Amino acid sequence: MTALIAITGLMSSKYLDHQQQEPPVVKNIILLIGDGMGLTQISSAIYTERKIALERFPVIGFQKTYSADNLVTDSAASATAIACGQKTKNNSIGIDPNGQPCKTILEEAGEKGLATGLVVTSSIVHATPASFIAHQPSRNFYENIAADIAASNVDLFIGGGKQFFDRRNNDDRNLVKELEEKGVAVYDYFRDNILKVSPSVEKRFAFFTADNQPLPAFQGRDYLPYATRMSLEYLSKRSEKGFFLLVEGSQIDWSCHANQGAPLLSEMEDFDNAILQAFAFAKKDGHTLVIVTADHETGGLAINPGSQMKRLNLKFTTNGHTASMVPVFAYGPGSELFYGIYENTAIYDKMKEALGF
Ligand code: MG
Ligand code: ZN
Repeated sequence: MTALIAITGLMSSKYLDHQQQEPPVVKNIILLIGDGMGLTQISSAIYTERKIALERFPVIGFQKTYSADNLVTDSAASATAIACGQKTKNNSIGIDPNGQPCKTILEEAGEKGLATGLVVTSSIVHATPASFIAHQPSRNFYENIAADIAASNVDLFIGGGKQFFDRRNNDDRNLVKELEEKGVAVYDYFRDNILKVSPSVEKRFAFFTADNQPLPAFQGRDYLPYATRMSLEYLSKRSEKGFFLLVEGSQIDWSCHANQGAPLLSEMEDFDNAILQAFAFAKKDGHTLVIVTADHETGGLAINPGSQMKRLNLKFTTNGHTASMVPVFAYGPGSELFYGIYENTAIYDKMKEALGF
């Protein structure tokens, strides 16, 4: 009898929860992608740093990264899967396997009145950020991707690749001018120090951190954590409805393609500092879901025998990507959706569910 009452009580309270049409708890999503960041890359950072920001994340899952035409994905197909919820062919930017554009989570967030942003350590036209905002059959169509970005309504973007906007080979357009004519405040590393720029919330904001690719972290690039914090302050004031921000540690992948352990560790440290900024914002805010994952693993990295704490014997098995699953870390309201093993496309579904779209 007691058990029955208890069950009925549970059911009715659940029913009541459904009746009250409360606004979704998740207002903001910060998605951080470590390009090429598999479990061994994370382990290497932990054995070097002792404690990293990711260890504060209570929810952990795994995603299957394979693309529509290859067990080993590239960054274009995997980012499109996360952005659009659709597996596509390698090389494809924001299009399905039939070549049709797919609407991305960033575009949907923008249409629903959320502020949106992209902050990366590659050029802004590179595969990962491009897949959230552009729709092109090839990741190499940098000038077309730049034109897609210029035509978008993204509120903020920070990354390299200025030359694809203002010194184009395929046409005479000056997309920096076009952005400025549309009211976007455009800055670049030639004239401005990103660490000293504070964007006006009244205007859309773009900062070019390089003409093509920004420097690697071990050569002194250090803007990602600051840019992450600045973007969070900007986006949280930009719309009352919330925001979607993508932050990419782009060059983890490149150090692994080059099979270079020390540069990898400095990229991991830089990315972890950006994660810490996102985590601190979310902890204070209470309505922000933070998701940290990779698009795939790069290098088939192993921590080989002979390794000691802070002195790792890192070995790579390939200079390409691998098909191993990559971890997903989540913190904040909606984070419980990210337990388990699932397809990379499910991240899109879970983000939509969390935002109540
Ligand atoms: Mg990338
Ligand atoms: Zn790669």
